[in-house]
Amino acid sequence: MAETIIKIDLNQSPYENEQIHNRWHPDIPMASMVKPGDDFIIECHDWTGGQIHNDDNADDVRDVDLTQVHFLSGPVGIEGAEPGDLLVVDILDIGTFEESQWGFNGFFSKQNGGGFLTEHFPEAQKSIWDFNGMFTKSRHIPGVEFAGLIHPGLIGCLPSKEMLADWNKREKELYDTEPDRIPQLAALPFADTAHMGKLTGTAKQQAAAEGARTVPPREHGGNCDIKDLSRGSTIYFPVYVKDGGLSVGDLHFSQGDGEITFCGAIEMAGWIHLRVNLIKGGMEKYAIKNPIFKPSPMAPKYDDYLIFEGISVDEQGKQHYLDVHVAYRQAVLNAIEYLKKFGYTGAQAYSLLGCAPVQGHISGVVDIPNACATLWLPTDIFDIDVKPNANGPTTRVEQGADLPLSKDK
Ligand code: ZN
Repeated sequence: MAETIIKIDLNQSPYENEQIHNRWHPDIPMASMVKPGDDFIIECHDWTGGQIHNDDNADDVRDVDLTQVHFLSGPVGIEGAEPGDLLVVDILDIGTFEESQWGFNGFFSKQNGGGFLTEHFPEAQKSIWDFNGMFTKSRHIPGVEFAGLIHPGLIGCLPSKEMLADWNKREKELYDTEPDRIPQLAALPFADTAHMGKLTGTAKQQAAAEGARTVPPREHGGNCDIKDLSRGSTIYFPVYVKDGGLSVGDLHFSQGDGEITFCGAIEMAGWIHLRVNLIKGGMEKYAIKNPIFKPSPMAPKYDDYLIFEGISVDEQGKQHYLDVHVAYRQAVLNAIEYLKKFGYTGAQAYSLLGCAPVQGHISGVVDIPNACATLWLPTDIFDIDVKPNANGPTTRVEQGADLPLSKDK
């Protein structure tokens, strides 16, 4: 069995563990060193560091401190890694802890985080998902069960000083175009809740003040939330600092394309088994700016779908020009309205589309003025037939199983 090089204690605050950090900064010292060819295990908190509980009350989602996230394990240094190299990371496996066989999904309150459909679902809610081997189901969304497409939502290498400065500049410029917006346009550095791993004293204070937040995906990968970057994948990361500095966290048991609810997929604590190698000078050899990856040879096999179309005309009937964000939102809203006909509440349907292995596709971006996006809903995850037929939908209410999601009151 490979060595566990980063251990966590679910009963301990992640702030007490110096192999954890929650900002990106080149000065964060390596938590552990490995060699090319090594494989090793890293344990991870859930992305909020234990702020969300396994119960039926969404107050914890409503009140979550989003300046603390994401808690990442690392950075792991790779001997010999230098700027310009490619770091090859094989995800050999990902698993759950015996004492933590559950995960959560929620929608943030519009006042604290928001989400893809925050105008439609402005209040915090959550669903809890229980794991049973490779399968999961939720007491809050009856009638569905599916296999986990387990993956890290967030993985990447430390940025260089120059790259960090770039990130902070361009995100501040966007933020400043509408500084009072709720939810905000970007999450800027925030020193008070920064955890900079082993850094202490003045060095920590300085790095905390400029450390980039972990919310967006960036050139280094980071919080990409790609469901297909699952166990069995091989990822090729650009290296920007000596030793690389690979960090990982935000493990998901499953997620739909888009991670539409923002809080988030089926979020879990767990462990990840990685192997690393280097391609010297690989960034230039392969013209790599953002990471590339090879998907896993294994994936849950769902091949029957109902596919919902959406176009870039918004809820008020306003025409947008080839706007994929608007089009995907319409596809999601169409799927939610459809599932309501089967007795699901809108919130249950929204949560399900964030959690299940739903595919999202950009189907057309040239047919002016409408972009077309599609949402692929796997039909085999339901215990009833959800396809249209001449008799109309059989609702879950008729089966006496319509439990509402927890409310924030
Ligand atoms: Zn996540």
